[in-house]
Amino acid sequence: MKSFGYLSAPDLDTALRTIADHDDVKLLAGGTNLVDLMREGIEQPSTVVDITRLPLTGIEQLPEGGIRIGALVSNSRLATDPVIRTRYPVLARAILLGASAQLRNMATVGGNLLQRTRCMYFYDDAAACNKRAPGSGCAAIGGFSRGSAVLGASEHCTATHPSDMAVALVMLDAVIEVQSLRGTRRIPIAEFHRLPGDTPHIETVLVADELITAVELPPVPVAANSHYRKVRDRASYAFALVSVAAALAVDDGTVTEVRLALGGVGTKPWRASEAERALIGRPATEETFGHAADAELAAAVGGPQNGFKIELARRTIVATLRQLLAERSAA
Ligand code: SF4
Repeated sequence: MKSFGYLSAPDLDTALRTIADHDDVKLLAGGTNLVDLMREGIEQPSTVVDITRLPLTGIEQLPEGGIRIGALVSNSRLATDPVIRTRYPVLARAILLGASAQLRNMATVGGNLLQRTRCMYFYDDAAACNKRAPGSGCAAIGGFSRGSAVLGASEHCTATHPSDMAVALVMLDAVIEVQSLRGTRRIPIAEFHRLPGDTPHIETVLVADELITAVELPPVPVAANSHYRKVRDRASYAFALVSVAAALAVDDGTVTEVRLALGGVGTKPWRASEAERALIGRPATEETFGHAADAELAAAVGGPQNGFKIELARRTIVATLRQLLAERSAA
């Protein structure tokens, strides 16, 4: 590992000044991804700023009904928060289906949003990878691509975004609060992660002197009837082949409100807006659910190894909506 400077920031102002004054700084919170990347030599910061002492650990109810979650709240704590479990069960379940208990105890909300892809070539410095070494090519295209994205990929990168939590946050229209010495920005999560295009190494709209301070959830009453379904190669400690975050409201057999987002298939956490449009005002039937999934996946592009994800995503969308409909009917 390359040697680096270390600073434990006592307060937010010190952290912001340090990242403004130094090039090539990385922020250390739970360290569950950064430390691995530094060990592998993929991240080689000149300075690591430890932000674990910052007062960003609150979960607060907001006056208008939303929730503000500090960036340093651990994944475990967020998933077990009684208000989150009751009002946003999709978020609690998404987190609990990610990683392992030990990792969830360390990983933070802010770090989860910034975790990097698990594409095997990204971690292999003998392989071409535009995300790790811009302009070097993409070994996954024409290589081992079973895990590659079918939505949002470019000729420069096809890697999926690995987070489960972020899929639920996209479904919930969360807002990311970031701070710098220049002030505070509030970024809708749908705009936070970037498609790879021809710059796959730039993964978010966060700029170098900014720090994530909080995530805000708006009030989303339909989320009380929500679910996260994750399909993966083994029952635990595996990334999604396909995942679906969904919430559904039905009145007299007609879909009156629906939210859908997908993981494991997109180069960023994927809001399934086409599917939502195809569901609103339609009969809540298995046939409608299938048509909606088809509408979303019409743009999907798969190859010989990852093409199975398209049909798997269709079936997972339908199964998740079917389950929500059944639970609602039984309530
Ligand atoms: Fe690198 Fe992206 Fe290609 Fe994987 S898919 S090798 S991360 S450029």
